[in-house]
Amino acid sequence: MTSREAKELKIIPPKNSAMLSWKPRPILSPQLTEPVPLEDVYIGKLKDRKTTSKAIQMISTARPGFSHLKRCNGFRLLLAPLMNDESEDQKSPKIMSSDDLRRSLNSKGFDLSLLEDEFEIIKVPKRAAKTKIQATKCSDIWPVNFHPDPQLEAVISGDIFTTEQLCRIEILMRLAIEAARRESVGNSECNGSALVVNPENGEPLVLACSKIDQHPMWHAAMLAIDLVAKSQGGGTWDLHKSNLTIRNQSETERKRQSNKNSLLFYPPSLSDIEFPCSETKLLEVKATRKNKCSNIPRDDEHRDTTGPYLCTNLWVLLVQEPCALCAMALLHSRVSKIFYGIPGEHGVLGSKIMLHITPGLNHRYQVWSGILEDECRRVRNEIKARDCI
Ligand SMILES: [Zn+2]
Repeated sequence: MTSREAKELKIIPPKNSAMLSWKPRPILSPQLTEPVPLEDVYIGKLKDRKTTSKAIQMISTARPGFSHLKRCNGFRLLLAPLMNDESEDQKSPKIMSSDDLRRSLNSKGFDLSLLEDEFEIIKVPKRAAKTKIQATKCSDIWPVNFHPDPQLEAVISGDIFTTEQLCRIEILMRLAIEAARRESVGNSECNGSALVVNPENGEPLVLACSKIDQHPMWHAAMLAIDLVAKSQGGGTWDLHKSNLTIRNQSETERKRQSNKNSLLFYPPSLSDIEFPCSETKLLEVKATRKNKCSNIPRDDEHRDTTGPYLCTNLWVLLVQEPCALCAMALLHSRVSKIFYGIPGEHGVLGSKIMLHITPGLNHRYQVWSGILEDECRRVRNEIKARDCI
């Protein structure tokens, strides 16, 4: 493609969310997305419903637990797990017989005369539901105690993003797709392009494409992180100045430069892609969503204005799910959100594993997939076909 043709290429922004052909899919822990596991429990049937509150009080004292469940459902009283949770050997608990349970309840002051003679065994949710979807399914089995996490529910429904933010993300992803179409040289392990964005103003900071034909570690995200390092006076690789491009500066861009936000590209041929300006603050969240969240890290909870790491608080858009090398580099650089289009054969943010939910990490980013998925898939197929020639 000639420079003239490239300059004529326009990225047409969507005008509203109804024009969006995609919906961001959060990559969440299976604990949030899979059905809550069930366990067998003993149920006693009350002879007289008028004794319900007395029976609940007595069983809660004799057999505490089940805080995630209502203790009574009509005439049915939740007594105890079938597996003996009072066993001395908790590593290999044994089944408790109904006679053992009667003796245990009796010894702890529970009035067995409140119940009919036969106990029932049923399955109930083993742990608390974490989402509304899980709570609804659990409630079909047994009444639950559930308090939704507003931030988590907004992530699941997609309401965490405003229409303006989604439109901005689409514009930025189209930029990344166009870059990948022009320049990406990757392999089955990792491919595509990476765009680092400042969520404070929605502006792109660096754009890089996979260039493993030039260096085995030059995956798109690795190059993008190195470009961010260069914008801060560092950088590892010898990307010669002639190979780096800082765009011709418009008035807006000069202002941006004064804020030390250089727009860097690799390879340099990407410099003539039309970069959209923005005043969209991607970080903004609706006032109603500033509630405490226990499951999802939030940008405004983790913001560190001193910026001790390369990409603290920045967002990254990737055409394809990153490999382990890129995902760990993004983690070490402290990006706060990652958006990608399509799964990668060796991807570690949803496909092979979910690296970002691995216990013991000292930083977590949030991840969404499905951004312009069809367009990303098409461009990956183009790149693959090109690489095979
Ligand atoms: Zn990679």
